Amino acid sequence: MMSKERVQRFLKELRDGGASGCVNDVKQHEPMSRYTTMKVGGEADLLAVPQDVEALRRIVLAAHRAGLSVIVLGGSNIIVRDGGIAGVVVKLIRLNHIRVVGSNRIVAEAGVLLPRLARAAARAGLSGLEFAIGIPGTVGGSIVMNAGTREGELAPRIESVTLMRPDGELLTLDRESLRFRYRHADLPQGCVVSAEFVLQPAPTAQIEATMKRMLDARTATQPLHSPSAGCVFKNPPGDSAGRLIEAAGLKGCRIGDAQVSERHANFIINRGHAQADEILALIRHVGRQVERRFGVTLELEVKIVGRATKPKGAPRSPKRRFEVRSDPAPAQAMGSS
Ligand SMILES: Cc1cc2nc3c(=O)[nH]c(=O)nc-3n(C[C@H](O)[C@H](O)[C@H](O)COP(=O)(O)OP(=O)(O)OC[C@H]3O[C@@H](n4cnc5c(N)ncnc54)[C@H](O)[C@@H]3O)c2cc1C
Repeated sequence: MMSKERVQRFLKELRDGGASGCVNDVKQHEPMSRYTTMKVGGEADLLAVPQDVEALRRIVLAAHRAGLSVIVLGGSNIIVRDGGIAGVVVKLIRLNHIRVVGSNRIVAEAGVLLPRLARAAARAGLSGLEFAIGIPGTVGGSIVMNAGTREGELAPRIESVTLMRPDGELLTLDRESLRFRYRHADLPQGCVVSAEFVLQPAPTAQIEATMKRMLDARTATQPLHSPSAGCVFKNPPGDSAGRLIEAAGLKGCRIGDAQVSERHANFIINRGHAQADEILALIRHVGRQVERRFGVTLELEVKIVGRATKPKGAPRSPKRRFEVRSDPAPAQAMGSS
């Protein structure tokens, strides 16, 4: 585990940097299961929720000086391992301003959630972000992921992205230099703090009707009432990961409380008390079965972060044995893991 001295050094660096207010934005030993949509993950050594860009700069610099790593999380495309995260986890939920600029541009801070951004664009009569209405990520994480659906993705709407480098400097990059691809951007090391989007004027009612149609389709096809991290695997070229997983007979397959969704085979859900190691074992099982049946190697869309095991001194959970189960009638299996 990170030594107490490093934590103290980090906190001292914050105070010495004239940031005593920022110390209140930092918590120790926060369970990441509270901050991820999959609801799994051990403790982060430190969790920082900066109030603004200046507070973020102080946190980033203090971490740099104390020799701690920094990871920014929105939390919706992430599986944090049971051993938690060493260093500083930063949540940008307070960087949440949206500004409409001129007739067709919107600037959003990195902590803004995509559905809120899509609604703000609709109210301003700007079309292009309708597809984002059901994606529960932040602007920052969604730029890193080039989040999208069949109806569109972020990249073509982005004019520029502003990033904070580990030395605290801000850097603004245009879309071309980020070389967006399917669920990927080539971002330099750092933390996205804001982005500018270019959209097309359109009637608000029309944009809202499109978003409603998209949300209805999502509700009908995705397990939105269970914790998950969205699609686990990227779609292979010309095919769909969900189709392959379903064709391999894996819908409903379970390890402990981790289960391949009955509703959408590319979602793994947490039925209540899953641990990250059960979810990861199920992901491996699904990947192996699809490869064996169809010769297709699925690539992960979710990001896996953190320590596999708990740091020394932390209480250990009992050793788990993995058992793969296929539930013919999932309702009957409730609570029987
Ligand atoms: C129910 C559900 C449905 C979903 N549907 C979709 C969908 O239709 N399409 C889709 O693309 N995704 C979907 N997702 C996945 C997820 O919402 C997106 O990938 C989203 O863009 C991730 O954003 P986030 O802020 O949660 O980032 P995270 O998942 O926290 O992080 C993703 C990566 O970005 C990094 N990161 C996060 N913020 C920053 C920042 N400010 N600066 C630098 N790096 C950062 C993280 O460290 C990590 O490497 C879904 C998820 C759920 C739970």
